[in-house]
Amino acid sequence: MFDKLSQQPADKILALMAQYRADPRDSKVDLGVGVYKDASGNTPVMRAVKEAERRILADQGSKAYVGLAGDPEFSNVMIDLVLGDTIPRDRIGAVATPGGTGAIRQALELIKLADPQATVWLSNPTWPNHPSIIKYLDMPTADYRYFDSETRGVDFDGMIEDLGQVKAGDVVLLHGCCHNPTGANLTADQMAQAITTIKAQGAMPLVDIAYQGFGDGLDQDAAATRQIASAFDNCLIAASCSKNFGIYRERTGILMAIAKDADQAALAQQNMAFLNRQNYSFPPDHGARVVTTILQDAALRADWESELDETRNGMLALRQQLADELKRLTNTDRFDFLADHRGMFSRLGTTPEMVEKLRADHGIYMVGDSRMNIAGLNEKTVPILAKAIVEAGI
Ligand code: PMP
Repeated sequence: MFDKLSQQPADKILALMAQYRADPRDSKVDLGVGVYKDASGNTPVMRAVKEAERRILADQGSKAYVGLAGDPEFSNVMIDLVLGDTIPRDRIGAVATPGGTGAIRQALELIKLADPQATVWLSNPTWPNHPSIIKYLDMPTADYRYFDSETRGVDFDGMIEDLGQVKAGDVVLLHGCCHNPTGANLTADQMAQAITTIKAQGAMPLVDIAYQGFGDGLDQDAAATRQIASAFDNCLIAASCSKNFGIYRERTGILMAIAKDADQAALAQQNMAFLNRQNYSFPPDHGARVVTTILQDAALRADWESELDETRNGMLALRQQLADELKRLTNTDRFDFLADHRGMFSRLGTTPEMVEKLRADHGIYMVGDSRMNIAGLNEKTVPILAKAIVEAGI
């Protein structure tokens, strides 16, 4: 059997991580993998997560199965966190999933189940797992322009022009906040215009929100998702708890389906539970229970929010420091986009050759498309990166 297999494409980021580990230079800087790191390079367990786990360990009386959709309390707290009270609860179906990736996978399978002809439109560029899963599921897909390599902001005119080609029944994947890999995001007015275009074409949005709280704040980062959800009769939202709760390996996420009425929401819910059953049966519970415990307890929630605020403010300060340092070194405002971007990533907007040069000459590791993990920096490495960018002639 196994001799019939062929090699699958290697994950470029994982290969980069291995290369980084093997690099003997003390001055090396890892801006590769998408995991938050504090100033010492650690990915800490958040205080509120530790306390919630302590309580679960002490109180949990059973590890019996929960339910195909996961714990309904987890759905309720997550719907509240992501959507607030913008959509009546009876219009929302929701199932717990293994991480945000699981939510995206289940969203795509649901779309395929409903309409195998639907084309899924992706921003160019997007998180590489999006096209990879779509290809694996053999679903039709297309790109819309997104990143302007001159301004390093959003190519909004190009985006709107391409969204004008979307067909009725298609699906448009939008990042809820903190676009990965670029860091460039739409303003609320631009999002309103994109929504108008997508609606006029008769398409449905699929929102991927994986960094709520990493951009401008919990509610601010959910604003676009709420704006989208309230504008459509049908909408899918895939949310991840990996980053904002720092529980990457617990695999905690949720897929929400917003329907036009309670009957359709129940139908979507039943189909999503069916898909959970086919793929892995019951979704993981531990991370979901940690999230529920934190969000339902006022003190734990306040502590989580304050640690998340520190995380976000730390990244914003690093962005500003890097933009300031590059302004000082180049005497231009060419790099101001770094302070305007939001979330964990910024796309520097340079060639793979330059990225390789930064790695070879300066020990700076970033993804080949020049995506930098801002959280991989600290106050001391920002000047090293700025100097390397200038010396490389970027
Ligand atoms: N969407 C985007 C855009 C992401 O960057 C990520 C994490 N890299 C995810 C979804 C899902 O993450 P996870 O499966 O770890 O929750």
